[in-house]
Amino acid sequence: MTTAQISLRNVSKVFETDTMETHALRDISLDIMPGDYVAITGPSGCGKSTLLSILGLLDSISAGEYQLDGQNMAAISLDQTALIRNHKLGFIFQSFNLIDEISVLDNVMLPLRYAAKPVSNEQMYQQAKSCLAKVGLSHRESHKPAQLSGGQQQRVAIARALVADPKVLLVDEPTGNLDSQSGNQVMELLSELNLQGTTICLVTHDSRYADMAKRKLQMLDGTLLHAPSGENA
Ligand code: ADP
Repeated sequence: MTTAQISLRNVSKVFETDTMETHALRDISLDIMPGDYVAITGPSGCGKSTLLSILGLLDSISAGEYQLDGQNMAAISLDQTALIRNHKLGFIFQSFNLIDEISVLDNVMLPLRYAAKPVSNEQMYQQAKSCLAKVGLSHRESHKPAQLSGGQQQRVAIARALVADPKVLLVDEPTGNLDSQSGNQVMELLSELNLQGTTICLVTHDSRYADMAKRKLQMLDGTLLHAPSGENA
């Protein structure tokens, strides 16, 4: 039996302020297998982005357990957390978060500058070029992000997410700022990446795009409406 790449057990997340507590996630249990493509849907405020932040080690859990590749994420140091985030995980958000002052190629190379093992300039250049080719933007490598369309900018953001060869892509409303044609192209690209073996966890409110995933999970009021499931789902 294949081991889950991502395993959440009874995970809760409470945001506390002086005056109130918000239970953003309640007792979530979920297995995501290598090569899976999971879409998480649900109404605004139900906890989708919080769940993705926790999977991406951008936020901590209040209770429960999160294992990534069999390793308990509560038992690692902050430095290890940063390394795991850079090596194993790639992020794609609704806003492209590209740096406008540098070229498309430099944007894509950026994560490699923070890699644990030093990467030579030549290697960074080759990896970034190869990722830009994957997203069909080799001919735009010297452009600045603002010179590209929204769809092209999102594809640059995808190339940047891929450059350190992550095992899992965490994707939050990737088409939110795109027209439908560009949105479709981005979603087709994600499907191709999944076919090539990348695990994808997608948050979307668009049911057409959720249908492109292998599994659809629905959230409501911080809970997951479906039971955890693994490779037999
Ligand atoms: P979704 O992505 O489904 O719209 P979120 O995960 O953003 O939902 O939010 C889930 C709940 O947690 C909401 O009630 C939201 O207001 C609350 N929340 C999210 N982030 C914070 C935060 N940093 N501090 C306090 N409450 C938060």
